[in-house]
Amino acid sequence: MKLEGTMKIGPEGHLWIGGCDTVALARRFGTPLFVYDEAYLRARIRAFHDAFATTGLRYEVAYAAKAFCALAMCQLVQEEGCALDVVSGGELYTALAAGFPPERIHMHGNNKTMAEIEYGIESGIGAFVVDNFTELEMVEEAAHRLGRTVDVLLRVAPGVEAHTHEFISTGQQDSKFGFDRATGQARQAMARVRELNHLRCIGLHAHIGSQIFETEGFIAAIERMAEVYEEGVRMGLPLAVLNVGGGFGIRYTDEDDPLPIRQYVEAIAGAVKSAFTARGLAIPAVWVEPGRSIAGPAGITLYTVGTQKVIPGVRNYVAVDGGMTDNPRYALYGAKYEAVLANRAHEAADEVWTVAGKCCESGDILIRDARLAPPRPGDILAVFGTGAYNYAMISHYNRIPHAAVVFVRDGKTALVVERETWADVARFDRPLRYEAEGETAAVGGAIR
Ligand SMILES: *Cc1c(COP(=O)(O)O)cnc(C)c1O
Repeated sequence: MKLEGTMKIGPEGHLWIGGCDTVALARRFGTPLFVYDEAYLRARIRAFHDAFATTGLRYEVAYAAKAFCALAMCQLVQEEGCALDVVSGGELYTALAAGFPPERIHMHGNNKTMAEIEYGIESGIGAFVVDNFTELEMVEEAAHRLGRTVDVLLRVAPGVEAHTHEFISTGQQDSKFGFDRATGQARQAMARVRELNHLRCIGLHAHIGSQIFETEGFIAAIERMAEVYEEGVRMGLPLAVLNVGGGFGIRYTDEDDPLPIRQYVEAIAGAVKSAFTARGLAIPAVWVEPGRSIAGPAGITLYTVGTQKVIPGVRNYVAVDGGMTDNPRYALYGAKYEAVLANRAHEAADEVWTVAGKCCESGDILIRDARLAPPRPGDILAVFGTGAYNYAMISHYNRIPHAAVVFVRDGKTALVVERETWADVARFDRPLRYEAEGETAAVGGAIR
């Protein structure tokens, strides 16, 4: 167990975060509860800014909202000087409701609907990251209809795929995302965008993976992107931005050994400078899109321990009052986490327990073979590193209400997402009744 940010173990043996006793937080707000260390969130963002400041590059840190998107989070990342990446109308709505400046918002996604494209254009977002040929025509059509000119970046699949400690330089071609470089789609897209009167192609984008612990994948991708960029410049596109995506790794367990943020940024800056200088190109502004590396380590989840099942010689199961509904990452891809009994964090973690959720699904596991002190019903379990892609993926499976989210700082708490009730999960249900002839109930397709 490695305590990050402001986390510490108090004299009474409780886990503390942001100057708050997690046991008191669990009592006050209930469980499951997501708790974010506000100072650490801000520190993670500042690490990107500080690193870029020393490179002398023009840059932008765009927080990938999908990792954890809520009003308060949008406010915080704006205060810290970030731009924002959204991938849906719902994320865009949340950002705008938080007062995020639209010109600092970029919209991603491989299947933006026309409604989402129009919403983005009408809101005046800074750029669309166009993913495919269909979308190129859709954005042009919408921009034309709305009488606007729209800045776009083209998402390119550079043929580099990076995961954790490896990168595969021929990987990623078979992906639903982006214009493929190797087969010439990226070139075709650049040629096409040049013909479209309402689009201004200001940059190129590549995102090579997630939870990356090495810099080689970024360097290889930048080299290839510089080649595409050079072609674009020759075609006369007004390119000024190279967006290298996100994917910077974080520590979930002892098996993970992420680089300091500074090291990723220095490698990226160095690779951009050398690749663009070698081609005689002006150095572009460099945009990065961290999601997990900002939100992940700053969040924990608190659960209340419930039942146990000990199968002698096989496995010890302990169940908590959440599970795959608030953290589906083990079920999705075998993700690993560490945990501690937050009310007895000073006790030796010398037993092995598999932490299960309360859903009716055998795969509803949070941690396989966690090292814990002997758990008892009523204990508070804290799972570390749950700030990214946990609340963001929350579901209503088994009609379990969504958990609450609090930010903590200097001993103070801010409830930023309320807990749902049992009534909330049935809020949009209607009794079975067919429409009468000529009647159209107020349930049209409108989403805005
Ligand atoms: C998911 C995603 C990110 C963020 O990835 P992290 O691993 O959370 O940093 C950035 N850019 C794009 C295009 C993405 O799809």
